[in-house]
Amino acid sequence: MYNLYIPVCGLFCALLLCICFFSRKRVKSKETKLFSVMLINSLIDSILMVSIILIAYLNPEQVFLIKLLNKLDYLQFLFWVWGLFLYIYYISTKNEEKGDTRYQKALQYTGGTTILGSILILISPVQIMNTGKTMYSYGQSSNILYAFCLIYILFIILAIFSNRKSFASKKYLPFYVFAAFAVVVLLLRIVNPGLVIVTAVLAYCNLVMYFTIENPDIRMLEQLNIEKERAEKANRAKTDFLSNMSHEIRTPLNAIVGFSQALMEEDLPESAKEEIEDILTSSNNLLEIVNGILDISKIEANRLEIINTEYNSHKLMSDIQSLIKGRIGEKPLEFRTYIDASMPPVLYGDYVRIKQIIVNLLTNAVKYTKEGFVEFKVDTVIQEDICRLIISVEDSGIGIKTEDIDKLFRKFERFELEKNITTEGTGLGLAITKSLVELMHGKIVVQSIYGKGSKFTVALDQRIVPKKVEELETAKENTDTFTSYGARVLVVDDNKINLKVASRLLKNYQIVPDLALSGQECLDKILEGNTYDLILMDDMMPRMTGTATLQNLKKIIGFQTPVVALTANAISGMREKYLANGFQDYLSKPINQNELKQVLQKYLEKKEGTMEEKIEENHSKKDVSYLKENGFDVDHGIELLSDLETYEMTMEDFLEESKTRIPKMQQFKDAKDANNYAILAHAMKSDAKYLGINSLAELSLAHEMAGKENRMDFIEEHYQELMDEVEKNISIMKNYLGK
Ligand code: ADP
Repeated sequence: MYNLYIPVCGLFCALLLCICFFSRKRVKSKETKLFSVMLINSLIDSILMVSIILIAYLNPEQVFLIKLLNKLDYLQFLFWVWGLFLYIYYISTKNEEKGDTRYQKALQYTGGTTILGSILILISPVQIMNTGKTMYSYGQSSNILYAFCLIYILFIILAIFSNRKSFASKKYLPFYVFAAFAVVVLLLRIVNPGLVIVTAVLAYCNLVMYFTIENPDIRMLEQLNIEKERAEKANRAKTDFLSNMSHEIRTPLNAIVGFSQALMEEDLPESAKEEIEDILTSSNNLLEIVNGILDISKIEANRLEIINTEYNSHKLMSDIQSLIKGRIGEKPLEFRTYIDASMPPVLYGDYVRIKQIIVNLLTNAVKYTKEGFVEFKVDTVIQEDICRLIISVEDSGIGIKTEDIDKLFRKFERFELEKNITTEGTGLGLAITKSLVELMHGKIVVQSIYGKGSKFTVALDQRIVPKKVEELETAKENTDTFTSYGARVLVVDDNKINLKVASRLLKNYQIVPDLALSGQECLDKILEGNTYDLILMDDMMPRMTGTATLQNLKKIIGFQTPVVALTANAISGMREKYLANGFQDYLSKPINQNELKQVLQKYLEKKEGTMEEKIEENHSKKDVSYLKENGFDVDHGIELLSDLETYEMTMEDFLEESKTRIPKMQQFKDAKDANNYAILAHAMKSDAKYLGINSLAELSLAHEMAGKENRMDFIEEHYQELMDEVEKNISIMKNYLGK
């Protein structure tokens, strides 16, 4: 009976595995289902094997029963190998396009084969060798089983081999082991049928698979990781979308703020000025929201940098106080402030972000407090050259429920929405605040009693700079009038409206700037010998960025004009980056009047005088109705481009641009370069839209789409139509402009 031990071991092993596997929550997948069938198979197989040996030992006369049980055991074994084949075949095809139908087919064919094998096994004779010490079976029936097993093992090896990629991962190592192992075991069994090790081998294979692939915990973790990745991807996509949107919003916002600021300088009735002020306030609110979204997306992408500089600490705190006083306005709130007088005057840190943190907390305190007080307190603890700022903001407002406190710093979380229905907010402020505090290695805590009030405390370490405030170069708000009549300024921006805004703002200083729509155009102007006192350069331009243009400019011998970066690509702290890239200075869009003035004062000479309004004089002779009669939606164009002057400038640009654009389109069409053709068609569409030439815009759009979809046949067929339309409109424009 010595060969009973191996099947008994197999039985225990199979039993243990079944308990472990079925007592746990499992992932619902085909592989897992197949594996459960294989587990049950091997358990039944072990039970059968142990019973057969016991019966043969205790009751050797029961030959028929022993033979029958043996055949059943063969069937179990066949089904187990079939199961393993299906398992492996499923993995090897599941990522393929038609994997599912292929698997179904394999299931049908091998199902038929297995049934055939089972019938053959059942009807073929089997012999039993029972010496009283060892017991095993042999004969035709078992040979048939081995033949079928061999076929499946071959199939398994083929499936693994034909789909090596799916099995490249280390976790599938057990299959390779199994394939090798199975061949050896089968050979052993054929040579020495007394070795009853098959049962144990099944259990062993199941065991290995359990610990490597089919363990419910491992499966669950895999599933979790897949879900986590999916969620993170969706989250990233959303944040990217928001961030792109915000960036797009900044450009029109630039126009709104720029023109409103310019209007403020005009001689307008008081009521109009008040309305403009409202526009400015709303635009600034919108800008704050957009900046918040950009900040959060930068934080999530780990791209937000803390930029430390020396700053005037007392000025920072008093700036904050006056800003908050403005926000309190008419609200019946007592604004208490206490700033520790021993705070060192000059500190080293990111004051822009510190201001953002404190302003966020104070703005919330004001927003969520109807009456009572808001207290702003700054304490300091000095240790060697470090000053710990302990900033607290307390209010007597609505307070926060205990259960909400944990969620407070999550983005987009807002509470008490019924009560705060009229309070504006995005739920981003505190999420940003906390991230900023952490980026500065500080701490933020909150205490709140619902209905009574809240207190936010922030601790930040700042380095003390042993300097006097006077030694710091601080930007002074200046109220002097400044004009620089006749100054030569070049503005470079790929967006015509931005150029228009800059021109309008510069008009306040009696400056008529020269304009360039690309880095290349700017380079050309300098190479042609134009000289300027100052260049304002957008950074985010297609083909050649502002930074790249500047690098090219610096290669030109004798080029010394100061170049100021002008970009929406930043919120704060970008100045140092641009300075490091060789720019003289930096202006963020929307352009702030005061900052622009400072830059102009720094680089231009003061010169009084009034610029002539040449262009406007020319216009009066032209007749817009001529354009309208010819299908130009002039009103819409002016709506988009803000005034007739820009509209006409755009028209001139269109004519100029067409000189190169049309031959290029022909070239791209002939070369079947659909991509580049589409880019030019797109540009034409945008121009036509701005000019209100709807027929041309529509036709260009059709060509753009055809280019994008690589439909050269459409382009060929309709090319002449487009060109005729362009020609027609060009001559209308020329007539109108008197060219
Ligand atoms: P927002 O103010 O834009 O909604 P925040 O992230 O700044 O976003 O704040 C999240 C939420 O926390 C707010 O909507 C408000 O419900 C609550 N909250 C923040 N500060 C206070 C405060 N001082 N008092 C009461 N509730 C507050």
